[in-house]
Amino acid sequence: MPDKQLYSGHCHCGAVRFTARTDLEGMGDCNCSRCRRLGWIMQSVSEADFTLEAGADHLTTYRFNTEMIDHLFCRTCGIESFAQGSDGKGNRMYMINVNCLENPPPVDHGAIKHWDGANF
Ligand SMILES: [Zn+2]
Repeated sequence: MPDKQLYSGHCHCGAVRFTARTDLEGMGDCNCSRCRRLGWIMQSVSEADFTLEAGADHLTTYRFNTEMIDHLFCRTCGIESFAQGSDGKGNRMYMINVNCLENPPPVDHGAIKHWDGANF
């Protein structure tokens, strides 16, 4: 398994910025009503591996369905660069939008996991 690397990511206008340490070994997409509209590729990272560097005051929260996940998008440009939730054991975790990373490795779309969120 590759080592974790530090990645920087941001929304389109750059107001919301984060860094995350990840090996990008769990990338996935999802077919739920929201994710298929967004078209994002997600990667979970632990709270310890995520830092919001800027833009907390720019974030707007959207919740739906079970309202377990805070979908956080920039109020200026509308891009959701990450979401915040829980791993089910009460530990806070983050879902970063791989498409918002600077200099990400090439994404092998054949290898990413497909979450059947539409049938949860
Ligand atoms: Zn923005």
